[in-house]
Amino acid sequence: MEIDDCQPPAEICQKCREALNERFIKCTQCPNSLILCLKCFSQGEELESHDNSHDYEVHSKNSVRLMLFGDRWTVEEESSLLEAVEHFGFGKCEEHYLLYYVDGSIGKS
Ligand SMILES: [Zn+2]
Ligand SMILES: [Zn+2]
Repeated sequence: MEIDDCQPPAEICQKCREALNERFIKCTQCPNSLILCLKCFSQGEELESHDNSHDYEVHSKNSVRLMLFGDRWTVEEESSLLEAVEHFGFGKCEEHYLLYYVDGSIGKS
């Protein structure tokens, strides 16, 4: 499912193995979507595949959950979200689509 691109593959930091806080860093250059906690990221930690000069995105677990599993979602809305994610890419899905749907179609219908 394409929507998996919006979610971290694991809920732990791949450097220190601590559970992630609400916000975490996802590397956009490592092939395995490397996840770092804010602490490791702020310390410039590196792994085998990961260099601290890599590009990254800030993700929020809570907003992703809210989007995907909130009880306001219908199947139709979720498929729209999937299309939107495919169109815009997962990098913006967290905040852009939250805004888009909350301020857009859901609010008006
Ligand atoms: Zn860490
Ligand atoms: Zn990396």
